[in-house]
Amino acid sequence: MNIILLGPPGAGKGTQARILVEGRNMVQLSTGDMLREARSSGTEMGKIVAEVMDKGHLVTDEIVIGLIRERLTSGTAEGGYIFDGFPRTLAQADALGNLMSELGETLDAVIEMRVDDEALVSRITARATCASCGEVYNDQTKPIPADGHCSNCNGTDFSRRADDNAESLKTRLLAYYKQTSPLIGYYYAKGALSSVDGLGEIDDVAEAVAKILEG
Ligand code: AMP
Repeated sequence: MNIILLGPPGAGKGTQARILVEGRNMVQLSTGDMLREARSSGTEMGKIVAEVMDKGHLVTDEIVIGLIRERLTSGTAEGGYIFDGFPRTLAQADALGNLMSELGETLDAVIEMRVDDEALVSRITARATCASCGEVYNDQTKPIPADGHCSNCNGTDFSRRADDNAESLKTRLLAYYKQTSPLIGYYYAKGALSSVDGLGEIDDVAEAVAKILEG
């Protein structure tokens, strides 16, 4: 099964993707993670995208489609792929459709994660991530354990994303509504769209996602 998790920044796409990776042996393809990797490895492309990302703007379609193409053509995923943070524009959605048919793959579900904007701001500004395994914490709802060790991998190094600040979030939200939200209509028209309430507890959202995947 290949699926897209669609929703604004902070909707919980990454958290749900990790649950699906663990429970269903799926492979998470997060263009945000790929771009952060590129920037921290100091490649030419990493340098180009760093400033764009920090300001909260979208990186060019050409770059992200290239990253996804590279991953899809160089590996396999028995449990299927989870596209997390991709596609974000109509051009990316078309490119993904073409790429999937080229590879003889299907897109089985597009899951929209709905959350209201106020919740997003407080979620994002309270977010921290384990630097070793990527487990996501939140100062209010899922604080870093009191002993300072990640509950998943025991790591002790936690980081906050450079673009998780109120100013950059405004631009990211605008980019979502302007460039990404049209994908909701696009996939609805293709008969592929389902929605979940992303504001619930993590386990409840995971259950709603599982129900959609089980048809
Ligand atoms: P994310 O981790 O998905 O929130 O992405 C972080 C940042 O990476 C975004 O604000 C964009 O600058 C960039 N980015 C990630 N995915 C895409 C994409 N599919 N298209 C364009 N820019 C992207």
